[in-house]
Amino acid sequence: MRINIAKSAGFCFGVKRALDIASKLTKAAGSVYMLGDIVHNEDVSKRIEKSGIKKINRLKKVNSGILLIRAHGASQGALRKASRLGYQIIDATCPMVKEIHKIVKDMHKKGYKIIVIGDKDHDEVQGIVGQLKEKTLVIDNISHIPLAKVKKIKLACVVAQSTQNSKNVLKIVDILKNYVSDLKFFNTICRPTRTKQEEIRSMPLKNDAMIIIGSKNSANTKRLYEISSLLNKKTWWVNSREEIKPSWLKGVRDVGITAGASTPEDTIKNIVKYIRSIRS
Ligand code: SF4
Repeated sequence: MRINIAKSAGFCFGVKRALDIASKLTKAAGSVYMLGDIVHNEDVSKRIEKSGIKKINRLKKVNSGILLIRAHGASQGALRKASRLGYQIIDATCPMVKEIHKIVKDMHKKGYKIIVIGDKDHDEVQGIVGQLKEKTLVIDNISHIPLAKVKKIKLACVVAQSTQNSKNVLKIVDILKNYVSDLKFFNTICRPTRTKQEEIRSMPLKNDAMIIIGSKNSANTKRLYEISSLLNKKTWWVNSREEIKPSWLKGVRDVGITAGASTPEDTIKNIVKYIRSIRS
């Protein structure tokens, strides 16, 4: 059996950057906190916590302390509240997410209504909509476009969550264009996501089975799984070697492997090693 690993499998630039910032902070004097998970991967978060950075789910008053902002970013409200409560903020927001924040603020000032294509409850989307006081429209699916609201919009600025499925985003934008006379679309799907999605549109066709590695709360891993499973029914999404069933690989000659942007290299290596051991 051949094991074919996607060139783009694993950490993206934004995740590496956030983890570098976190690792430097472990040497900082005083308490360091992170609001939620720094990236969407349980193993990575546990390692960060072990290194001394405390995960908190809510901001509370501190006398002093550093607050590390995750790769997905945070709302303006959360940043203001953190400063008020006494935290020194160190921002590990991915520059590509920062760019989306800048676009929505600039376009809002110019009078455009902001439309975000993304998962409503995802941290990144919450951070994007939280750049503005005004309510933004979030569209998470082509079948959930609120046409009655869209029809009332004259000027619209459309951005996408950085890890969205590019084909779905373009389809949604095409529909919106029919209703909004002045629509500016900024394709804010980040380069690492596009590269991963380009690879996953061909790999499942060239392999008998696909293993997608990543945390179940990772949005970009979910997209890889969705695209792959449409092309190849023998697609499985796992977060660790323990989840793999040897029966999946029965009769398989080529197995393709890819991994989400927050999946650590050692998880990928462990799984590859395990797959080799099943067949040996
Ligand atoms: S997936 Fe893209 S936007 Fe998200 S952290 Fe990685 S590079 Fe940045």
